[in-house]
Amino acid sequence: MEGTEYGMMKKFAAAFCAFMILLTGCRSRENNPAQESSIGQNSVIASQLEAIEATTMPEHSVQEFGEPEAIMEYGGYFACKVLYPVTGIPEVDKVIAKWAKGLYEDVSEQVKEIRKTLKDATGTLTVNYNSYRIGERFASVEELGFYTYNGLAHPVEPVKVFNIDLKEKRIISGKELFTSQGTETVLKMLADKILETDASLASFVEEMNPQWLENALLKPDGIEIILERGGYLPGYLGTQRFFFSYEELGDSLAFASELGLTSSSSENEAAEPARAPASQAEIDPEKPMLALTFDDGPSASTARILSLLEQNGARATFFVIGNSVQNRAEVIRQIVEQGSEVANHTWNHLELTRLSEEEMKQEVQSTNDLVEKITGVRPIFLRPPYGSFNAQVKQNAANMGIPMVKWSVDTLDWESQNAKKVHDAIMRDAKNGSIILCHDLYSSTGEAMETVIPELIAQGYQLVTVSELLEHSQESIEAGMVYYSTTLKK
Ligand code: ZN
Repeated sequence: MEGTEYGMMKKFAAAFCAFMILLTGCRSRENNPAQESSIGQNSVIASQLEAIEATTMPEHSVQEFGEPEAIMEYGGYFACKVLYPVTGIPEVDKVIAKWAKGLYEDVSEQVKEIRKTLKDATGTLTVNYNSYRIGERFASVEELGFYTYNGLAHPVEPVKVFNIDLKEKRIISGKELFTSQGTETVLKMLADKILETDASLASFVEEMNPQWLENALLKPDGIEIILERGGYLPGYLGTQRFFFSYEELGDSLAFASELGLTSSSSENEAAEPARAPASQAEIDPEKPMLALTFDDGPSASTARILSLLEQNGARATFFVIGNSVQNRAEVIRQIVEQGSEVANHTWNHLELTRLSEEEMKQEVQSTNDLVEKITGVRPIFLRPPYGSFNAQVKQNAANMGIPMVKWSVDTLDWESQNAKKVHDAIMRDAKNGSIILCHDLYSSTGEAMETVIPELIAQGYQLVTVSELLEHSQESIEAGMVYYSTTLKK
């Protein structure tokens, strides 16, 4: 974490210091003795900022699009760190930067104002962001802010979504994501979901209008409607998020065909015939297939899943933690013997965006070395822990010759630890070409597989490994790329 931040501060010291910010952070103080007198206070505020950030910011940010820029101020009574992406599309960057600077200036002004009556008041503002790449045409950014100062009744948590149409090189509003008929439908779906969580919100929901969709965020699998804390619903609820998969939204989407809703079987028909399967297993390229994947093992539950796979003539991919492989060499061998695949989930499950290239290499290669030593087969794919990566991680993976794999169906099995919920999530969202995320850490996930595996097969799916799945799609498998399904890579 430190490494990234220092790097960023250095980078921005040059760009921003000159025209807008008194930057007195860790780096600049070293060669700026004139500011010695305020260092004590600065570092107190800086550490407050870090403490606030640690409790309010999402633990793992996703930054799949754009390069981070920052507005920072660690001086005097106001500390701020506003992160936002630069996408390289001038029209888009202008809007995002304007929003970020606007928030910075606005909060900074509010703190100045309160100091007229509360002489010693101090304030902090932190803004982090997640950015996503969605198919070929879209990207999105969610800016998540948090600010507070003495005299403010409670902290404010501003949220701002930017959906980007890469084809037209412009930002599209949340409302534009839906057809006019679709807007009605989506508002109704949103109302239902809100009332499902709390029926007493009926009077708020009655006030609903298309403005509620302004922070509708495009994500790889669907649209998340974010309602800012205190914006439309009571403030005590905090910021509320409601997710709808692209399948669920269907005809309501204005860009359905570009959001992965075209039938993938018809796409395959137009493509070149599939190459021969890599394994001895028989795969019919004309029939639907998907890949079950299990992360964070091996564990006590892995053997049960393996025996279910074997009984059903199915295969899966296990993204293993090197650290856990040592004590379960036998089960790792069995994965390979059954024709399933062992893939890499690093040695220590650290967030790769916080590691140096050398550290990442160590995490990945030590795991591959051990798996190869046990099974004779070197893993091909890496799944970054927490699914978290950025441009640097991609570059490192490219340098190591490793493709990365995420997922298109998230069972949230770690959260529910409920076999029925895992089963229902898979049966609802699985489709041809899906990569399904599960964790073989939980016995509930093993239990879910008792029904999931036979039911998927009964529905006509071939359960294949990630290697087999990608080899049968028209995609080439490239180091440094990230694969989400057969139809989506980045
Ligand atoms: Zn994991």
